[in-house]
Amino acid sequence: KASNGKYTVTLIPGDGIGPEISQSIKDIYLAANVPVQWEEVSVSPVLKGGKTVIPDSAIQSVKKNTVALKGPLATPIGKGHVSLNLTLRRTFNLFANVRPCASIKGYKTPYDDVNTVLIRENTEGEYSGIEHEIVDGVVQSIKLITWDASERVARYAFDYAKTSGRKRVTAVHKANIMKMSDGMFLSACRQVANEFPDIAYDEDLLDRVCLQIVQNPSPYADRVMVMPNLYGDILSDMCAGLIGGLGLTPSGNIGRDASIFEAVHGSAPDIAGKGLANPTALLLSSLMMLRHMNLFDYAAKIENAALTTIAEGRAITGDLGGKASTKEYTDAIIQKLRKA
Ligand code: NAD
Repeated sequence: KASNGKYTVTLIPGDGIGPEISQSIKDIYLAANVPVQWEEVSVSPVLKGGKTVIPDSAIQSVKKNTVALKGPLATPIGKGHVSLNLTLRRTFNLFANVRPCASIKGYKTPYDDVNTVLIRENTEGEYSGIEHEIVDGVVQSIKLITWDASERVARYAFDYAKTSGRKRVTAVHKANIMKMSDGMFLSACRQVANEFPDIAYDEDLLDRVCLQIVQNPSPYADRVMVMPNLYGDILSDMCAGLIGGLGLTPSGNIGRDASIFEAVHGSAPDIAGKGLANPTALLLSSLMMLRHMNLFDYAAKIENAALTTIAEGRAITGDLGGKASTKEYTDAIIQKLRKA
């Protein structure tokens, strides 16, 4: 917190539609008097010792502020570039990926009552990247599960349930087949569950959960789901599909040393620079960030203004079937905030 009473947050506007949707967030925060001041940094790779790396100033800013909002980044074409997402994940130990998906009134999808929260282990499991060809035509890929990472993500899931008012944590697994690896993941979850007597705990198989959610998502509104990396990657996209996808889905990468919030979508080069992008996904990501910072009232106020604007349908962007520009949608939210 700075001397003026505001929290400094790193802002990485990103590429393509990134700067446009970031501007919208800045305007909305100003109108809502959110006590946040932005420290804007560029993460365009620079040449250092013959290698392309992310500028040190960007890393230092996130390190110092410990909270960042990130726009989408276009994956650079050509070799020799570092993957920014990987660098950030490693640098800040971003161990949990949080993906809430809630139906938005006014944007019709086959379901009206989706309200899931999924927490994905983000550092190991099937994505450890340990693969080798044993002999010609035979490849082995190692799924690495550690007690520490499992316990860390489980504890985060229970904490999240507690602070967000959800009553249950469900560990999603395939321990019927992956007896040792998923088995240990479950053991870690069970141990952490003992520390949270007020939160119910159960376990369910990934395939069963997929089947049940697409048949009827509403029973999942009372809980947080926690799972190993690959399962979370796939299941979270499935949940995003249930609420209408890219323009609306936020996410948070929670880390030991910092937390970075970002929309699930990419830089949308097809509409970049045209003022047509929907800033809702980044806005909702920023509201996850405010809640992470315990600024609950500001988050609720902005969420209400944005969701009412969408529900009314008069000033919504093209991806939601409307005709409004990014700015017209943003201004409609700001007007609601001023009246509130
Ligand atoms: P994309 O998400 O950028 O776009 C897919 C489609 O959805 C496009 O038609 C786009 O116009 C639309 N769309 C996406 N976000 C929107 C929004 N906010 N409002 C309105 N419409 C929206 O996916 P892509 O085209 O596959 O990827 C483009 C670039 O983004 C690639 O370089 C990719 O690597 C990068 N990317 C970055 C991230 C990230 O930084 N987290 C994530 C995904 C993709």
